[in-house]
Amino acid sequence: MLPIQVNKFGGTSMADADAIKSCVSVIERQPQPTMVVVSACAGVTNRLVAISQSQAQVERQRLLDEIIVIHQGIAEQLPASSASCHQRLQSLHEQLTELAAAPLPQQPSEISRRRDLILSFGERCSSELFTAFWRSHSAAVEIVDARDILVTDSYHGNATPDLSATKERCKSLSSLLQEGVGIVTQGFIGADLQGYTTTLGRGGSDYSAALFAAALTAEQLNIWTDVAGIYTTDPRICSDAQPLQQISFAEAAELATFGAKVLHPKSLKPAIEHGIAVFVGHSRHPEKGGTLVVPEPTTRPSIRALARRRHQTLLTVNSIDMLHATGFLARLFDVLARYNISVDLVTTSEVSIALTLDEDGSRANGQSLLPEPMLEELRQFATIEIEQGLTLIAVIGNDIGHYGDISPKVLQAASPDPVRMICQGASRHNLCFLVADSGAERIIKNLHAKL
Ligand code: ADP
Ligand code: ASP
Ligand code: MG
Repeated sequence: MLPIQVNKFGGTSMADADAIKSCVSVIERQPQPTMVVVSACAGVTNRLVAISQSQAQVERQRLLDEIIVIHQGIAEQLPASSASCHQRLQSLHEQLTELAAAPLPQQPSEISRRRDLILSFGERCSSELFTAFWRSHSAAVEIVDARDILVTDSYHGNATPDLSATKERCKSLSSLLQEGVGIVTQGFIGADLQGYTTTLGRGGSDYSAALFAAALTAEQLNIWTDVAGIYTTDPRICSDAQPLQQISFAEAAELATFGAKVLHPKSLKPAIEHGIAVFVGHSRHPEKGGTLVVPEPTTRPSIRALARRRHQTLLTVNSIDMLHATGFLARLFDVLARYNISVDLVTTSEVSIALTLDEDGSRANGQSLLPEPMLEELRQFATIEIEQGLTLIAVIGNDIGHYGDISPKVLQAASPDPVRMICQGASRHNLCFLVADSGAERIIKNLHAKL
């Protein structure tokens, strides 16, 4: 059996014909059997989300026209032999137009099903384009609909994959890959057991690629993006951020969880569990190298990198009943769990508990972050306070809490802005603190300069 490589190309790598051609040359250099997982072309998923939310037909049509222009601009540069790609693209655009023109459903379950179906067109179109470009170099390329192989539950907008069912469906792909056939599929989308299209949450193509890599027991998962690896912080915030040659799975998982968009937070678990090496590199500049995510990196610095997560909500729950009481936290978390609220950080004092809530995770289903019925339930046993417009900054490293120099650096970097919450101790790999959105970039720049 030849070792399999799974290559994922993100939205900017799929942005135009030149970008896609660079991706094809990246995989053409790989001798191994190759599976490619693509995102939608840059800007397409945002427009599809807006189509799924807009009540105005004129607005939906305008967004649709923009998407068609993006895809056609790319398709125009395909070689003359790509007639079937043009046809399939046209058919997908027609289906999407019909869906966007249909009256909006009323039932919440129908709304979320329709939303995921609309969102799926981004990856379905981009994968057709990628396949056609790749076929112009190599005849043996097949496109596979991810909805036939990635099995999920029915939680639309943030579906949970079923890896063993997905492995079963991927079995036939292994033999194709071993025969030298290149496979292209879509990231981000799957289907539930009834066949309804589902999505894995924004940025979910990394996660899809990791699941396929696990299902195929691949040797390596390559995440090709618009930066040459994982940096010491987001290079868009600090121009002097440095690329990291190696990082441990644990550090990378923390970085991703705390907002480093370069990797989807859930994408590392399948790779860790299946012993798959993960590489992050630049699709347009593979010669720049990248970051290898490994179980045991050669160095273990106390501070490796900084991450930030915007749009945090701080919920403070205060109840005198909590004084020496048992079961209070269980009651609180039971309410939050029933409303699918995703909690990030927690700090407690004798009579109050402060939690940060993740907007993206909690609202993935298109619902309100803090539904009124949930707040009503909480008010029955506590007073609550809600603060928004906050950013969580995470210092990621090793044995944090065992060195004395980190907390003073954090507090100095934040000064004079107030630190609304600070969390350390639960993980040896992070120290997190919460500040107002307005000061976050300044604080990250200050802190990065001190590291
Ligand atoms: P893709 O479309 O390829 O999935 P994303 O936009 O999701 O790409 O992720 C790449 C972006 O992640 C980079 O352009 C960068 O701005 C951002 N990013 C955030 N933190 C980091 C980090 N520590 N290292 C590298 N990139 C980071
Ligand atoms: N296209 C999806 C998004 O924009 C998934 C991805 O790009 O990873 O969120
Ligand atoms: Mg991404």
